[in-house]
Amino acid sequence: MLETVNPATGEVLATFPVHGRAEVDAAVAEAREAATWWAGLGWSGRRVRLLAWKSHLVRYMGRLAQLMHEETGKPLDDAKLEIILAVVHIDWAARHARRVLRPRRVRSGLAAVNQAATLEYQPLGVVGVIVPWNYPVFTPVGSIAYALAAGNAVVFKPSELTPATGDWIVRSFGEALAVFGDAAPVLRLVTGPATTGQALARSGVDKVAFTGTAATARKVMAAAADSLTPVLAECGGKDAMFVSEDANLDAAADAAAWGAMSHAGQTCVGIERVYVAETVYHSFLERLTQRVSGLRPGDDRQAAYGPMTRPEQAEVVAKHVADALAHGGRLVEGDGDVGGGPDGGASPYLRPIILADVPENSSAVTEETFGPTVTVTPVASMAQAVSHANAGGYGLGSAVFARDRSAAMTAARSLRTGMTSVNSVIGFAVVPALPFGGVGESGFGRIHGADGLREFTRPKAITRQRMRPPINLLSFARTDRDMRRIVTLATLLHGRLYRPKKGRGAQ
Ligand code: NAD
Repeated sequence: MLETVNPATGEVLATFPVHGRAEVDAAVAEAREAATWWAGLGWSGRRVRLLAWKSHLVRYMGRLAQLMHEETGKPLDDAKLEIILAVVHIDWAARHARRVLRPRRVRSGLAAVNQAATLEYQPLGVVGVIVPWNYPVFTPVGSIAYALAAGNAVVFKPSELTPATGDWIVRSFGEALAVFGDAAPVLRLVTGPATTGQALARSGVDKVAFTGTAATARKVMAAAADSLTPVLAECGGKDAMFVSEDANLDAAADAAAWGAMSHAGQTCVGIERVYVAETVYHSFLERLTQRVSGLRPGDDRQAAYGPMTRPEQAEVVAKHVADALAHGGRLVEGDGDVGGGPDGGASPYLRPIILADVPENSSAVTEETFGPTVTVTPVASMAQAVSHANAGGYGLGSAVFARDRSAAMTAARSLRTGMTSVNSVIGFAVVPALPFGGVGESGFGRIHGADGLREFTRPKAITRQRMRPPINLLSFARTDRDMRRIVTLATLLHGRLYRPKKGRGAQ
């Protein structure tokens, strides 16, 4: 059995079964049957059910938020915001699936003028969703809602740290569907640790939507490789923020404080590094320190953020801080004693830490810390900030603060990340039409938006011959005359000589 524990108090909240290969395979088989029914409901049938689910989540938001608070330690208001964000995505996926995925005619082109060509996006069947604990509603819903809206069934494995929230999500979907008289297990829960995730990756699902560390993504891909099961990988990050000399420093400091410290820094798109134009470096650092020094972690309503959900993470934070200090870094905020590991029995609460003068090769700059820490480094130019930001292996999100819109957009485009927000942090996650995902060690594939819907489909190409072809090419009855005509046509259409335009070099 799996025990889920309140990280703030150590209290056991509930127990859940550890599902093995047999149970996971059975869940996938049941989901596969349900998938046929779900796909058969059509766009409007699925849309109204997903909207009913969203409304259920809003109506019972208080209860779900309380459970998330108890299971992860995050403040109640943060839990509510997370639910609202998830609801926005369910709503978007439900309302846009038809427009994005419905069959459409595409131009056949001159060579196939006798064909009618249709492109469709068909559901894959059953999608396995494996997720972490830090956003136990927003993260799974980012895959589940889009997979369901595209016509798939889902087998969902929440983190072993948040099975109760996962169970609540699945039961809420069942309750929303029950109003329609439906009982098919379109969204199935399996619980357990890594072994359950492995079983799901090997189960023959039609795609695995994985969110977690890059190390685990590699194991999931290896497990899925046997059956050539495609994998979507949403992994960690080391998000950087750039503050230009013309930026609104108060707004930038406020955003950096929240981006780095909210949820104790346990956010995949949290800000872990800030690069500041050297002319405004000290003013920015002062503003940031002022904001951060007032933040207090705790379990009460006034606390800025909660405990480390995974007590072991405190050790990673301690290691990164020690490495930064050993290499010439300086503590601007925090006392460097990040305290207890799981055995030390020390507090699960980490106070905010700001580090300055940390060399770019320190683990505090290169590795995901996932704690309430941030490094602040002066840079000579936006180009240098971009170069530092792009030097690491991760590429999830990033942020740029600048008044000059064109310079900000140029920097945003040159940051090697899947997402960038200008003059805000994490703004991209709030826009459901935008795809969410990373590059490099941060993974590949996209959830959210039209790309997120297409991620859970297979494009199906259909041609229908409307009349006999003017030139008979695809037959052994093809004649020399047919060949001469097609070569003439190809020469006319594609044989033109292309040369560089005068005065424009070889562009
Ligand atoms: P993790 O990789 O340890 O676990 C993620 C999930 O994978 C869990 O459900 C776990 O049980 C399962 N798992 C573990 N080993 C497995 C295996 N061998 N085979 C199959 N499944 C396995 O990650 P975590 O510590 O739970 O989460 C933190 C990480 O998630 C951070 O790196 C964070 O940045 C990342 N994250 C990314 C996003 C995103 O959207 N890109 C969102 C949230 C969190």
